[in-house]
Amino acid sequence: MEIYLDNSATTKAYESVRDIVGKVMCEDYGNPSSMHRKGVEAERYVKDAQETFAKLLKVQEKEIYFTSCGTESDNLALIGGAWANCRAGKHLITTVIEHPAILNAMRYLEEEEGFRVTYLPVDEYGRVRLSALKQALCKETILVSIMYVNNEVGSVQPIMEAASIVKAYNRNILFHVDAVQGFGKYRIYPKKTGIDMLSLSGHKIHGPKGVGVLYISEKAKVKPIIFGGGQQKNMRSGTENVPGIAGIAQAAREIYTGLDEKVARMRALKRRFIEGVGEIEDTTIHGLYDETSAPHIISVGFAGIRSEVLLHALEEKGIYVSSGSACSSNHPSVSGVLKGIGAKKEYLDATLRFSMSEFTTQEEIDYTLESLYNCVPMLRKYTRH
Ligand code: PLP
Repeated sequence: MEIYLDNSATTKAYESVRDIVGKVMCEDYGNPSSMHRKGVEAERYVKDAQETFAKLLKVQEKEIYFTSCGTESDNLALIGGAWANCRAGKHLITTVIEHPAILNAMRYLEEEEGFRVTYLPVDEYGRVRLSALKQALCKETILVSIMYVNNEVGSVQPIMEAASIVKAYNRNILFHVDAVQGFGKYRIYPKKTGIDMLSLSGHKIHGPKGVGVLYISEKAKVKPIIFGGGQQKNMRSGTENVPGIAGIAQAAREIYTGLDEKVARMRALKRRFIEGVGEIEDTTIHGLYDETSAPHIISVGFAGIRSEVLLHALEEKGIYVSSGSACSSNHPSVSGVLKGIGAKKEYLDATLRFSMSEFTTQEEIDYTLESLYNCVPMLRKYTRH
């Protein structure tokens, strides 16, 4: 039995994605910049993908750019946005619970380029404090970046409210949203919301790894951070990853097909799992677990057991989960997100993230609960003094 509950780290590709990626790699393998038919054929995939994202996000096709991953989209938005607007000011705002793709790009701008960055606190549920955003805005502020769904605890940020606060203060401030964990679970419309830039990633939505999207409003001033042959209107040089681009577009179309039912199913499973976990003593669910939290992420603290130990005990039973944030779990350190929400000390090193997908079944959730009922008391017996 293999139960994959690490879908916030990465997802299994849809079969339709595998098929189109294979077809583009082996049959329609032209370079979109070539002038002959093979090139034009390849360019068609890029244009179709732009059309797909433009429709889903209700934006213009020319506002869609393809990158190599969510991390690159975040870097281009922040560094490119900061470079292009630094004459207007050198102050940036983000939150303490962002992914390292944001936090480390901000740190770079702070340490190497003389920008000042404000890191907004969050409440106990992992939602950014809007009062702190209001206080932080100043006439030097040029860019604000807030994630849509937090990857560790699944908190959903008040993006609409944050955007209106930013735009009411100064409509020239760029508002960027890292929607890597929110896209495919929520319908996101940047123009209606006041979002100038939006980052997406292929492998979180049953698409291929190595491909991302950045929406950049035509009104936003952003400079490229990669230099080369001038592809994608000079914004992102490098021969387009056509198989990846065709794949991410196919994944986006498929994930939004029947979205409401998929999300309702995940929510029901999430409720079942949370109720079941509640029967184990000394556990806590981080963040909110009602309808205002993401449907697919559940972060559970198990007092007295190091996350790594429980993770491997579950692995023995064929269950794959993650400790803290999987994207950076090669560097185990105390999670800034758990610290940010003020999690109790006993949970900082004792938290697992269970993340579902539309393929997760009730049997899998029940088997995982059974396994926890077995492992947790046993491990506690050996590790507690
Ligand atoms: N942003 C968030 C919120 C994420 O969860 C991740 C990956 O986990 C990323 C950005 C980075 O995406 P990628 O793995 O495509 O670089």
